[in-house]
Amino acid sequence: MKTFLKKVLPKWMREFILRIIHAIKGMRYPGSKVLCTCCGRRFGKFVDQYPGKHQSDIRWAGNSESVFCPYCESAARHRIACHWLELHMPFLNRDCRILMVGAEWSIENYFYKKGYKNVTTIDLYDPAADVLCDIQKTQFADNSMDIITCNHVLEHVSDYKMALREMHRIMSHRGILELSVPTDYNLSTTYEDANIISKTDRLIHFGQEDHLRIFGRDFKQQVELCGFIVEVVAGNNVPKEIRPIVHGYDYNDNHVYFCRKILN
Ligand SMILES: [Zn+2]
Repeated sequence: MKTFLKKVLPKWMREFILRIIHAIKGMRYPGSKVLCTCCGRRFGKFVDQYPGKHQSDIRWAGNSESVFCPYCESAARHRIACHWLELHMPFLNRDCRILMVGAEWSIENYFYKKGYKNVTTIDLYDPAADVLCDIQKTQFADNSMDIITCNHVLEHVSDYKMALREMHRIMSHRGILELSVPTDYNLSTTYEDANIISKTDRLIHFGQEDHLRIFGRDFKQQVELCGFIVEVVAGNNVPKEIRPIVHGYDYNDNHVYFCRKILN
């Protein structure tokens, strides 16, 4: 449905239709127990997540309860990001330049709701993005973006350090890069192997058919080596009402990384 809408409808009409659909879906979750910091709406619970056949329930530990916002489809990482932005955005100019790597409606909607209009979305394939390009090498000028969001993208690119260095290049000196990646906290170092190429093997080794790696506990250090100062916000450090309920693995940690440039 969404792919069809992206191909045939202009952006404003697509979003109008999606808002109606989401508002109807939200009515199925009455109550105020949980809060979506992206759209500002409260519900009795979030929508449950059931891993699809393209995801490994060995890595990701089966079903999770109360994960996605029924209105804007935010996941925990998006709500943590908006929770942090809510605390820090008042200090940013409404004209600041925002780059979203991957079109995520929940956060994009948050920016527009707050009055930030200078938002550019990029993606390698998604026709809903404003610009189709590879985050490993973009056409944007040095220091041209004040906020960059990049959630669950780095596991898909062939060289994630190249992508980090590119975001470092295009981010302004006082800018913020918001990052999250799928992580197995049992791994001390990030696990990748360019020889693992079949969907079946990637599912087994990396947890999803189209993932090229699974990040480990060294991710923060790897980001720092690309020139950033990194603040980590863990899922356990945000209000309980914005967190999901997840069985099993520590994926529930939902670490979100807020990165600034080291100024020389
Ligand atoms: Zn929401």
